[in-house]
Amino acid sequence: MSLLTVGSVAFDAIETPFGKTDKIIGGAGTYIALSSSYFTSDQKIVSVVGEDFPNETLEDLKGRGVDIEGIQIKEGEKTFFWSGKYHNDMNSRDTLVTELNVLENFDPIIPENYQGVDFLMLGNLAPAVQRQVIERLNERPKLIAMDTMNFWMDIAWDDLMETVAMVDVLIINDEEARQMSKEYSLVKAAKIIMDMGPKYLIIKKGEHGALLFDKEMNVFFAPALPLEEVFDPTGAGDTFAGGFVGYLAKTDDISFENMKRAVIMGSAMASFCVEKFGTERLQNLDGAEIDARVESFVSLAHFQMESVF
Ligand code: AMP
Repeated sequence: MSLLTVGSVAFDAIETPFGKTDKIIGGAGTYIALSSSYFTSDQKIVSVVGEDFPNETLEDLKGRGVDIEGIQIKEGEKTFFWSGKYHNDMNSRDTLVTELNVLENFDPIIPENYQGVDFLMLGNLAPAVQRQVIERLNERPKLIAMDTMNFWMDIAWDDLMETVAMVDVLIINDEEARQMSKEYSLVKAAKIIMDMGPKYLIIKKGEHGALLFDKEMNVFFAPALPLEEVFDPTGAGDTFAGGFVGYLAKTDDISFENMKRAVIMGSAMASFCVEKFGTERLQNLDGAEIDARVESFVSLAHFQMESVF
């Protein structure tokens, strides 16, 4: 099945307790597309970069089977730049710099051959832009998944509510779920958020795994793999989203049962992402490696128990 990803293609500068990078390639759209490229060869991306963005990176995406016709290159303008610094526990970070540059007036253009796409993944962007993409598709995709962040809850709440009401799956972290619902309990928060529109909600809890809810309040929990070394969590959320939606596109099954498997796949892909700085670890994985990682998740969470009574 085909997949359209919309998201930032960017420069990042990252500081973690293990080191510091200069400007490296990042962006939510980049992480999502790289991650889902392992699952579908029919993938398209809509984004925007400045003239300072390296052509070879765009060619690399193309080499991974991603149709890049929807990436606009703005002459005389600069690529979106984000910089962040992680605290010692790696669970929290401060944003040091956000330079919107080309994202400031991003008008997402959908090439004609992108029409009729089966799955849509809306990476973290202004909710009005996310909605424009939905509205510019002639047919509604089979499944629309969306990521967002606190920033948009603070400055674009009404837009966010309009967009959230149009999607099937919302993927956010625990802190964002609490802010969005004004409720501390994640179960209560999930109910409130799904009343805003989405049929399914995924709440990511970083190193504590992820929860999947549906409107009937069925819940599934996927652990995160305890890793010896976490170098850089940047993009883990986007890589999760790419693995999740990529798996759904590959299997063409959007039942709750299959979404459980997709959450495990997303978690497996995210566990690779954090092992190296930036997108490095997502460049050269193979199916056997991904299968082995999924197997580690299965054995981590699997147990049998008989009644002692
Ligand atoms: P994550 O670690 O999954 O939250 O994603 C980090 C990525 O999101 C980085 O590569 C950034 O370039 C990108 N990013 C950060 N802030 C924004 C924003 N406001 N809009 C779009 N992309 C962003």
